[in-house]
Amino acid sequence: MAGRNFVFVPGPTNVPDRVLRSMMVPMEDHRSPKFPQLLKEIMPGLKKLYRTEHGTPFIFPSSGTGCWEAAITNTLSPGDKVLASTFGQFSYLWIDMCQRFGLNVQAVDVEWGTGVPVEQYAEILRKDTGHEIKAVLVCQNETATGVASDVAAVRKALDDAKHPALLFVDCVSSLGSLDFRFDDWKVDMAVSGSQKGLMLPPGLGLLCASPKALAMQSSAKLPRCYFDLKDMLATNPSGYFPYTPAIPLMYGAIEALKLIEEEGLDNIIARHHYLAEGVRAAVHQGWELKLCAKEPKWYSDTVSAVLVPEGFNGAEVIAQAYKRYNLSLGAGLSKVAGKLFRIGHLGDMNELHLMAAINGAEMAMLDCGIKVKPGSGAAAASEYWRKNTPPSGLLIR
Ligand SMILES: *Cc1c(COP(=O)(O)O)cnc(C)c1O
Repeated sequence: MAGRNFVFVPGPTNVPDRVLRSMMVPMEDHRSPKFPQLLKEIMPGLKKLYRTEHGTPFIFPSSGTGCWEAAITNTLSPGDKVLASTFGQFSYLWIDMCQRFGLNVQAVDVEWGTGVPVEQYAEILRKDTGHEIKAVLVCQNETATGVASDVAAVRKALDDAKHPALLFVDCVSSLGSLDFRFDDWKVDMAVSGSQKGLMLPPGLGLLCASPKALAMQSSAKLPRCYFDLKDMLATNPSGYFPYTPAIPLMYGAIEALKLIEEEGLDNIIARHHYLAEGVRAAVHQGWELKLCAKEPKWYSDTVSAVLVPEGFNGAEVIAQAYKRYNLSLGAGLSKVAGKLFRIGHLGDMNELHLMAAINGAEMAMLDCGIKVKPGSGAAAASEYWRKNTPPSGLLIR
């Protein structure tokens, strides 16, 4: 098939050519005296990405889900109470994992299209004077619905209630693209993965642990083996791993972190906002459709979930986009299956790249009988991008 497949699922995202090339390496001995150089090169960039000085990052040869497991099993014991909320497939799955591990989850169910109910969290924490809640879970960016939540506000709720619970954040689809502050927000476990904002292939699970979280290892009784931080802590400081690490991905991580350093994290965050605003202009002003995210305060700058009009099937739009235009859009998951399609706009991305998704989604919608005005998505997005100052990452230097 001529031309390339345009990938706009919110992960895996596009891998920049420089990163692709950096991973074409011959295999090497991961016990060699030279090997520790790799971790030495990755760690400072990773700490900057998490905006942490006192946190300890870990790299697992796993996907993000593995680090959900690492976060809970290294800190908690069976029956421990955790506070969480469901508003999409990913926030739900972390809760499901907690339950499978025998944790006592107080799950606040909120409407899909909204995010972490901070007021409710605050009230629950205030009332928990016996400090039964051991951890509070936050999915910073619900990739299934395109909803971003306010992690800083959850921190404040914990502080206001003088509650000692650990703060766990899923930042799989936000680290390196939305603002994330491990130290400022006093996050205890931050879970991420390689295939979203980090612009790498899938295969690395990232975790950042606070000293407070690490101190829980001695009392945490949940079973753990592969994800036991003890084994990582015994080997990582000298640059080694308890088992075979994903060597090419680590070379890729060095290059990806270099790209991030060159553009600057704040510039990257600004670029994601600018690009997302263009997509939202296409959805609202162009197509006159709605996002799954209910209000601007929930809008995610990394993924937009576009609701198809009543009577139409989002899955058909996605199938048509793929079959006819070689465009991969994100599907509606679980409760929102068929109701929407998602455009991922995170990682290595610029305006014209994103135009492919906007035009392709529009053509697929028209093919499926959805009466959007032809050309209206591109018109609205380009209007926004032309009239607003682009962040530095989009300018040729
Ligand atoms: C992608 C994603 C995950 C799962 O990550 P895997 O790498 O697929 O295991 C978890 N949470 C969020 C918010 C995600 O976007």
